[in-house]
Amino acid sequence: MKDSQELSGNVTGNKIVMSGIRPTGFLHLGNYFGAIRNYIRMQESNECYFMVADLHSLTTHPDTKSLKSNVHRVLAENIACGLDPDKAAFFCQSQVYETAELYLYLNMLAYKGELEKTVTFKDKVRQHPENVNAGLLTYPVLQAADILLHRASFVPVGKDQEQHLEMARNFANRFNHRYGDVFPEPQAFNFNETLVKVPSLDGTGKMSKSENAMATLYLADDDDMIRKKLMKAKTDSGPTEKNSVKPDYIENIFLLMGLVSAPDTVASYEADFNNASIRYGDLKKQLAEDMIRFISPIRQKAADILSNEKYLAEVMEKGAQKARVSAQKTMKLVREVMGLNYY
Ligand code: ADP
Repeated sequence: MKDSQELSGNVTGNKIVMSGIRPTGFLHLGNYFGAIRNYIRMQESNECYFMVADLHSLTTHPDTKSLKSNVHRVLAENIACGLDPDKAAFFCQSQVYETAELYLYLNMLAYKGELEKTVTFKDKVRQHPENVNAGLLTYPVLQAADILLHRASFVPVGKDQEQHLEMARNFANRFNHRYGDVFPEPQAFNFNETLVKVPSLDGTGKMSKSENAMATLYLADDDDMIRKKLMKAKTDSGPTEKNSVKPDYIENIFLLMGLVSAPDTVASYEADFNNASIRYGDLKKQLAEDMIRFISPIRQKAADILSNEKYLAEVMEKGAQKARVSAQKTMKLVREVMGLNYY
């Protein structure tokens, strides 16, 4: 089995691509660099299915009061980043009912032991011991259903999703082995050499929609908020010797700079670090200005799109229609090989 890194950068076009983002809050820099940036490149020459994963969000956010506005936000922010609903099928997961059917069949091929060992499941159990529901346990099965429903072979995601993709390959292989060859093996994909993990600003873990808001840069943050968050990012008094090894939290700041600043800016601060003459205050100020230049046009565009509900409804309707055509084709095949076609 090939690993995701091997495939990075090798998409030549005409592949089936699928991915999703949960509507659990404001999109952030991790969503952009882990997922959306790749969506935008892949939509040019591949058959792309991108969805707002509202069913997945129910596993951790059962209260649906703010679901509609969150769904709208994910749609608007993706489009503001450059996702084109005319090129890709951009839809809402719950509007493609075949997902639930395939999820049911795949659940019979997924084992309690392997599901309980999933890192994301164990994290969620730790965070919310009061809500360990079966949907949470079978989250990777639903994700596999989303992907396999379109017989996708490439899945642009961040590093946090690597294990889920491996499980999707296992479920696909088990299905193919038991019933007949229907599904390709889906691979996690990133255009860079490796899958991206955008770290949180407090030096622990990754940026995330639902955790520490001050340590995550949102695509909706205003300029002052971006400055404030970056100036608070963890640093120290600087290296005392030349060519020191960077502590993790400094490495993280350079990683963020590598994403949004010009290469010669990064190189100049790298040189300062290696000469033990770096001033972290200056580094963070520079990073803040570069980050603002990156985020603020997206924020403004997303706000415009968000105010146009009619347009968002049209996007969802058109996306769901495209996704249903592909889903129905797959499910016909699935029922046939499973022997569920009685007349
Ligand atoms: P979140 O964890 O913020 O709720 P989702 O689970 O909805 O995000 O993930 C949507 C996409 O964004 C996935 O492809 C995921 O791999 C990617 N992603 C989320 N956080 C990060 C991060 N900090 N760095 C890189 N990619 C990320």
